[in-house]
Amino acid sequence: MPIKGFTTTIVHRDRLETIEHGSLHKPIHANVAYGYEDARDLAAVFQGKQFGYSYGRQVNPTVTALENKISAMENGIATACFATGMAAIGTSLFSLLRAGDHMISSSFLFGNTNSLFNTFTNNSIDIDFVDATSVAAVIEAVTEKTKLVFVETIANPRTQISDLKAIGDFCAEKGLVYIVDNTMTSPYLFQPINVGASLIVNSLTKYIGGHGNVLGGSITETGLFDWSTFENIYDTYRSGDPHKWGITQIKKKGLRDFGASLGPEAAHHIAIGAETLALRQTQQCANASLMTAFLEKHELVKAVYYPGLESHAQHQRAADLFRYPGGLFSFELAEGVDLWDFMNRFQVIVKSSNLGDNRTLAIPVAHTIYFEMGPERRASMGIDESLIRISVGIEDGEDLIADLQQAFAGLGG
Ligand SMILES: *Cc1c(COP(=O)(O)O)cnc(C)c1O
Repeated sequence: MPIKGFTTTIVHRDRLETIEHGSLHKPIHANVAYGYEDARDLAAVFQGKQFGYSYGRQVNPTVTALENKISAMENGIATACFATGMAAIGTSLFSLLRAGDHMISSSFLFGNTNSLFNTFTNNSIDIDFVDATSVAAVIEAVTEKTKLVFVETIANPRTQISDLKAIGDFCAEKGLVYIVDNTMTSPYLFQPINVGASLIVNSLTKYIGGHGNVLGGSITETGLFDWSTFENIYDTYRSGDPHKWGITQIKKKGLRDFGASLGPEAAHHIAIGAETLALRQTQQCANASLMTAFLEKHELVKAVYYPGLESHAQHQRAADLFRYPGGLFSFELAEGVDLWDFMNRFQVIVKSSNLGDNRTLAIPVAHTIYFEMGPERRASMGIDESLIRISVGIEDGEDLIADLQQAFAGLGG
């Protein structure tokens, strides 16, 4: 009987591979090196002619089990895991690009990715940041040196949605690598392979791990891109199926060179967390809908940004592409409402950074994660001084509404 369901696939994945003692979970292999009976096998593993384990910086059985699970979730052909989401992005791009290359990135980016890309531009990789909510901006930025396009699904904190399908079609037509950071949606809400992504990034720290107790990142090869046309692949990795050369170079060269490997204990935590991804996200998205409907009608709220609302600029795109509109939204307070007085009244919602946790988390964006940029840059990015970002948790919806209600009611008291 073929298993089709998203959760059934994750929950039974380990058991259906052969594991010692019939373990239901892949055990934690706290192990660095591996011994071989026949030295020829060891050589074959090193030469990539045979699958096997050599050294813990590049492979570990517990991490491999998680990689296989993520490939299944993303419907991809291979995945590499890293210590963090930033390590996944940095290592992958650095191993695919060379000085003088050009790439196009959405300007609506996770702050640390933005910081990383600025570092790239200081190291001879040329990047154009464009408004990726429309493919037109991407088309306009292409040069003959363009190698790849990088976008996120739903941007944080203002929830802009990239023109995912049209950009995918354009990249396919031009032979450009298309990288989609799927962290905000996760493979449960959206599979970027369906819009032509070549590589998919996930910060496992967020929805996939899901409990705010472990860091991790991954990159998945979808198998759609033919790397034989990509000149930056080293000769050593130009063998076998050319649809896998990208992930091979990222794993064999990138992970080896930078060493930001995911540890087996972390991989175990993430694998356990991933089992309930669909259940958690369903509840988070339902809570986000409740909360944004409440806030949009409230007189002390100036604006609410959530793809589930009809007022959102890409509402229809979200409805067409995503199973649900996500578990993150942001809102601005009306003129005269004291941000600190309001936030300090929260009793259930936690004032904290991070997102994708089981708990609902709130952060005053301009004063924390966007503080370094200064007021002018913030204004140019549409970040109001009163903007509050909410990462919605799995609590009972009525408790979250009651918390917002009492925070508004108590103002000035
Ligand atoms: C958090 C995040 C990252 C980075 O992940 P870490 O695990 O924190 O390094 C990358 N992209 C997006 C969209 C994120 O939200």
